Amino acid sequence: MDIRTILACAARPLTAPAERALAGLRVLMYHRITTLPHYDQLVVPPERFAQQLAVLTRRRRVVSLADGLRALRAGALREPLVAVTFDDGYLDNLEEAAPILQRHGVPATVFVTADFCDQRTVHPRYAHAATGGGQVHLNWQQLRRLADVPGFEIGSHTLSHPYLQRLSDEQARKEVQLSRDRIAQELGKPVRFFCYPSGDMGQRERELVAAAGYDAAVSVAPGRNRPGFDRWAIRRTEVTARDDERAFALKLDGAFDPMHALLHVRRQRRFARLSAGQRGGTRP
Ligand SMILES: [Zn+2]
Repeated sequence: MDIRTILACAARPLTAPAERALAGLRVLMYHRITTLPHYDQLVVPPERFAQQLAVLTRRRRVVSLADGLRALRAGALREPLVAVTFDDGYLDNLEEAAPILQRHGVPATVFVTADFCDQRTVHPRYAHAATGGGQVHLNWQQLRRLADVPGFEIGSHTLSHPYLQRLSDEQARKEVQLSRDRIAQELGKPVRFFCYPSGDMGQRERELVAAAGYDAAVSVAPGRNRPGFDRWAIRRTEVTARDDERAFALKLDGAFDPMHALLHVRRQRRFARLSAGQRGGTRP
């Protein structure tokens, strides 16, 4: 058991929380489903992912992000619901994740970056893979295939994956608005949801997302969403390769939330410090 699981167990009451106490929508955040030779926080191997979905479907009612938000808006939610999301639009979402999700009957929302789909650039973390000739992200044709898989919905994750708070007003507006237009045009479907790259967002970003016509936006603030939730900063729970059956079940119960909340406060402070000095500049 790793140190995070031990801390999560320590922070948890002795008995498992009652269903009622867990009522609300927990949105899981994934990135890549593939096998790499080393640990990567954004990567969950397919076998581990299948194991997590088995635990998930055994313990929770799983819904699409849209249905989960609809249930929350309707008010009294007496049971815990879970929705699954993926960020950055990796090719493995189609090749590895989609068949496993379908097998378990789990819907998913995938947030894509237009420049990545154009194959113009890749997420900086995987630049080395791209220079080796490997395709990292879904192209538009592959994205259309993914969008056609029952239960899948595509959302926007900007044009170029910048730290939004460091951009000028006009640059930030374009990232939010034009990505929505572009993805909708490529898919021939409306784009209802937005995802802030790296969770970097403030008041201006939430206003831009609302003005662009999205229904809601997901953040990286941890915890579950309850009635009266903030629809421009929907909370999410990151899942990693370290989440074996036990750790994953604890995560669904919210045992990691206090620890994640502390880390989140630290991250928000860092974003605020960096964006104060850089607004108007370009992405680092
Ligand atoms: Zn991202």
